Amino acid sequence: MTGPEKNCRAFLLEVYRRLLDHFGLRHWWPADTPLEVCVGAILTQNVAWRNVERAIANLKEQGLLVWDNLARAAETEIEPLIVPTRFYKTKARKLAAFVRFIAENYGSLETMFADDLAVLRPRLLKVWGLGPETVDSILLYAGEKPTFVVDAYTRRVFSRLGVVPPDISYEDLRAFFQGALPPDVPLYNEYHAQIDALGHHLCLNQQPRCGACPLGQLCPFPGTLKAPSAVGKPGHGHRLEEAGRTGAN
Ligand code: SF4
Repeated sequence: MTGPEKNCRAFLLEVYRRLLDHFGLRHWWPADTPLEVCVGAILTQNVAWRNVERAIANLKEQGLLVWDNLARAAETEIEPLIVPTRFYKTKARKLAAFVRFIAENYGSLETMFADDLAVLRPRLLKVWGLGPETVDSILLYAGEKPTFVVDAYTRRVFSRLGVVPPDISYEDLRAFFQGALPPDVPLYNEYHAQIDALGHHLCLNQQPRCGACPLGQLCPFPGTLKAPSAVGKPGHGHRLEEAGRTGAN
């Protein structure tokens, strides 16, 4: 590991430590089974989690969070049960595509998750309706695979911290975390959950609550947003060196 990579890891671990101290363990993902995690990850696209909870309860009541039953269910059977998640017809189609992919290629969720991450992730990314955030959530939280989940909160927080550009792509941002952190499932699990808490409660899009933020001493916002992209540009390493020193104190 090179000097800048070490600084980057130290910085990310310091951010994590501060977030964990502030928010406490978040016990993600809130679900009873891996299948429930997968269904929740698909249903939560563009809707608040409380809406997903209502849909999950409906599906449970009808016995559709049991693999054999879900695999046999028609889209029209699922649709009325997931109305609370909005776009319910599209989401029923996405669920059906996911279930069909598993049935045709693996036969069960357990067999699918026995596949290598490097093989399974690209295959899942080709399933209709599954974007990278959904796929990585399924792989990390249901399959316990070491893949870092990033989202809009991650992009906002870490661009404000000055370590990535605000328009960084999903794959580049994921690679940034995975390049700096060890492939540690519990760490990836909790780190994403912590970023979610920060983005939801403090690092708001408009008027972030910096005064209450545990990252305040590490964060140069708002000046960073006006600066050129940090990753791979002169000054990026320097920024992390400074942050790493702060973290070591
Ligand atoms: S200090 Fe403000 S801008 Fe920086 S991470 Fe915290 S809430 Fe976001």
